Amino acid sequence: MFAAPAESTPLLPDPLDHLASVLFHEMGSPGVYGRTALYEDVVERLAALISLHREPGTEVMRFPPVMSRAQLERSGYLKSFPNLLGCVCGLHGTEAEIDAAVSRHSGDWTLSLSPGDLVLSPAACYPVYPIAASRGPVPAGGWCFDVAADCFRREPSRHLDRLQSFRMREYVCIGSSKQVSAFRERWILRAQEIARDLGLSFKVDYASDPFFGRVGQMMAVSQKQQSLKFELLVPLRSQEQPTACMSFNYHRDHFGTTWGIADASGEPAHTACVAFGMDRLAVAMFHTHGEDVTRWPAAVRELLRFSRTEKATTSAFEVL
Ligand code: AMP
Ligand code: ZN
Repeated sequence: MFAAPAESTPLLPDPLDHLASVLFHEMGSPGVYGRTALYEDVVERLAALISLHREPGTEVMRFPPVMSRAQLERSGYLKSFPNLLGCVCGLHGTEAEIDAAVSRHSGDWTLSLSPGDLVLSPAACYPVYPIAASRGPVPAGGWCFDVAADCFRREPSRHLDRLQSFRMREYVCIGSSKQVSAFRERWILRAQEIARDLGLSFKVDYASDPFFGRVGQMMAVSQKQQSLKFELLVPLRSQEQPTACMSFNYHRDHFGTTWGIADASGEPAHTACVAFGMDRLAVAMFHTHGEDVTRWPAAVRELLRFSRTEKATTSAFEVL
């Protein structure tokens, strides 16, 4: 059982608590966990399943857990979610200054920290837009990317479906508004097929991001009104407060304008992304089907290649 609640709510038992010792190792901070082999195996199988659905012509990129601070600032992240951002800080200065900062006599060494040029990536897709911009105009067919990163959001919680450090996988489309809207429509349908095949209960609903502050509340209302975000929600803790395991985001021309990406007709490109919360999906699988993967439904085991039939000659891992 995990200790150290970070939220002010009293320590009520949580429906996901029973999974803690089976899936995670405590690391001394809420929402930051080591992962058991059992859990990690399922995360990898889910990742392989998502790869099987990759559309032809999609370019694969994998990003580290950090990204350029300047690029994230330019993306507008600080206007929307400054409270969630983690910044990489370091001890800068001469050898003597650094020595003094960390010596036992100087008290709190963190007072000597200053920010570096990196932040912890809050979502997997941010680095792809400047990379795309550096390639010139988007070709007539648009671009599709498959990206992933370990992400950080400073939202400590004792709930196993709200982590500070978690894995995000995304398909990103860059092109005309028509292409990008069609991409999102396709993925909203395909993602439901995947969730159904995985045996998850779910619903898809309009959503808004947790924009910061009072202005943020207005941004959230407008995001919902314009149907810019949908989520695939799985009732893990309760039916009333289901957990978003996948998101379908339409950014319109925000990144196209920010990074100077032009579509084939010279207009600012539109972008959309479908994001899979890999850790939430894995937690949802264990919550739904139990801790013993050998007792998961046969069709789900087959889909995740736990068991093979003659037909399933290609391992999902071979297409990663
Ligand atoms: P978002 O950009 O907020 O739509 O996040 C994309 C996906 O990442 C969501 O659909 C979730 O599945 C997952 N996600 C977001 N925040 C967290 C978190 N704190 N812990 C675990 N997964 C998360
Ligand atoms: Zn994204």
